[in-house]
Amino acid sequence: MKLKHFESVSKLADQFSDLPIEAVFKQDILREGLSFSPDSLRIASGYKPKDYFIFSFDLIPIAEMQQEEHLRAPEEIQFRGGSRDLLPTIVSVRVNPNSPWQVRLQEGQLRLYCEEEEISEVLYHPVPAYYKRQMSNGKALGEVAPVIEWGYLIYLTVYRMCQYFNREEQCQFCDLNRNYEQQRKAGRPYTAVKSEAEILEALLYIKEEDTVAKALTITGGSIIENLRGEGEVSFYARYAKAIQEQFSDRWIIKAVVQAFTRDDCKLLKDSGVRIYHPNYEVWDPKLFPLICPGKTRVIGRDEWIARIVDSAEVFGPECVIPNFVAGVEMNQNYGYSDVEEAISSTKAGLEFFMSKGIMPRFTSWCPEPHAKLGPQPAPPLLYFCRLLQEFRDTFRKYQLPEPIGYGPVGAGKAVFSVSAFMDVL
Ligand code: SF4
Repeated sequence: MKLKHFESVSKLADQFSDLPIEAVFKQDILREGLSFSPDSLRIASGYKPKDYFIFSFDLIPIAEMQQEEHLRAPEEIQFRGGSRDLLPTIVSVRVNPNSPWQVRLQEGQLRLYCEEEEISEVLYHPVPAYYKRQMSNGKALGEVAPVIEWGYLIYLTVYRMCQYFNREEQCQFCDLNRNYEQQRKAGRPYTAVKSEAEILEALLYIKEEDTVAKALTITGGSIIENLRGEGEVSFYARYAKAIQEQFSDRWIIKAVVQAFTRDDCKLLKDSGVRIYHPNYEVWDPKLFPLICPGKTRVIGRDEWIARIVDSAEVFGPECVIPNFVAGVEMNQNYGYSDVEEAISSTKAGLEFFMSKGIMPRFTSWCPEPHAKLGPQPAPPLLYFCRLLQEFRDTFRKYQLPEPIGYGPVGAGKAVFSVSAFMDVL
């Protein structure tokens, strides 16, 4: 007989008793998404909403959201307590009305359920005080400089498009331009390029009123030709330089951009960027060209990896943190169907980078409906449990330092919300 969803999650949590149970629940909520009862959504309107800071990170399109979740769902939830006395755990919200995981209001309290099993209490993140400040151009501060990770990270998507979409060679899991289009259609005042002046103004308000944010990310889509006459490195470095000049070391500056040559890395570092994220997305040599056709054509997998290694000499290996999209190697279009084969492939990448002191990190693949791979079930929870084990063990084997710019590590303390890698270190 097929196990009910919660039974299968519990069984895996027992089987992986070396992982915090909170990390297992968190990964399952990320893979299945979250639904909200009408009452729990009504409560959410008094809290920080999902700002759609870059991708949609939803499992259904806005057009299918019957409760207007795109305007009402919270950015993140924190689950804690309950009969298992769970440690406080922060999870990014991926809207899915059909998820077995649901937030409900019970006797005036927000509660997390998995099917009919009550799991824990739930908190939403309050709207930060600086969100109420008036920007001189009339935009909402949350559009210009949204905050995530329970207030720890300011996320500056300064360019909301990616030029790989121009030739339909975007990364196959990515919905950046498609999300831009659906948000505009839904009336959200997205602008493709944010100006330096509005970023600096928003950061000034944050600096005046906030003590929680410790890091900021500068990012956006790839610039292949140029954007308004500028190449990618000079475009993104310009924002970092302006922020560094005005605010000095108030926040750890991180940049999520392409794999640059050594000279370009120097330029980025000199502009004030401390943490460099040249995301390699997927390690597998056969899958990389299929999943990242644009990156393959313009830079190539071997060169991409060589540049990551070179960049460690510029930034220091502990400050090079390339992301991979965990689970995309198991996509049903042409990925692995066997969990251990997928893990073995991805573990080779962890070994490669971690043995050099470089600190890969992962986000959990969200099969967004507008991405090229198309809607499909997320990889099994077993995959994520095995990945957390391998990630933790390889991290320990090479005695790497705690990742910089990610807040505290460990169950009950981590704030990174799109995977549980920080919860298990
Ligand atoms: S480089 Fe890939 S993941 Fe990044 S924005 Fe472009 S298509 Fe998306």
